[in-house]
Amino acid sequence: MKVLVIEDELALLQDIRNYLEGANMTVETASDYQQALSKISGFDYDCLVVDINLPHGSGFDIIHKLKAQESKAGIIIISARHSLDDKIKGLNIGADDYLVKPFHLSELNARINSIIRRRILDGNNLTTFHEIRIDHTAQTVTIHDKPVLLTHKEFDLLVYFISNKNKVLSQLSIVEHLWMDEIELVDSYAFLYTHIRNLRKKMQDAGCPNYLKSIYGIGYKWEDQ
Ligand code: CA
Repeated sequence: MKVLVIEDELALLQDIRNYLEGANMTVETASDYQQALSKISGFDYDCLVVDINLPHGSGFDIIHKLKAQESKAGIIIISARHSLDDKIKGLNIGADDYLVKPFHLSELNARINSIIRRRILDGNNLTTFHEIRIDHTAQTVTIHDKPVLLTHKEFDLLVYFISNKNKVLSQLSIVEHLWMDEIELVDSYAFLYTHIRNLRKKMQDAGCPNYLKSIYGIGYKWEDQ
């Protein structure tokens, strides 16, 4: 899961990044309004954590821009303000949740997970696909009722493919979903190839048919057989 955190208090920004990375998320950060705008216009995220009072702009405007570009990302406002008006305004313009500072990082993590489950996984903790069973809370996978050990990237890849089954996913969209914004595309395609090869091997060893088809020159498609 890829998250963008927009916050100008740098110590807090770093704390959030460390915590969420420890929870296996891919975390990008922006510490002012312009940086946030350039991130959201260039990249897709599963969830954004947005501070309202930013240098040179407001978090509300970032949310407006996201909505204008029909982003599917979940949005959590974090704000020192605790007026009811701000909260209502945030939720009215399309934020999913609102957290008043100071907050516990574990609560932020839990709320991000809950939004992602709601938006991407239709509210389910478990996804099953034929013999494959994914527990999103425990981040575990079983195939034919036997546990299969996946790396975090392999786990994210599997969830991304199954959530988009029967759709052709370009290499670029997969890479953008799973990796940091700064990574060089050439490197990331090589990384992607390696992770996919390893994921395929583990699935095959556990007795799965090859659901993941390579679409020559484009990317991949997870096919329901
Ligand atoms: Ca601020």
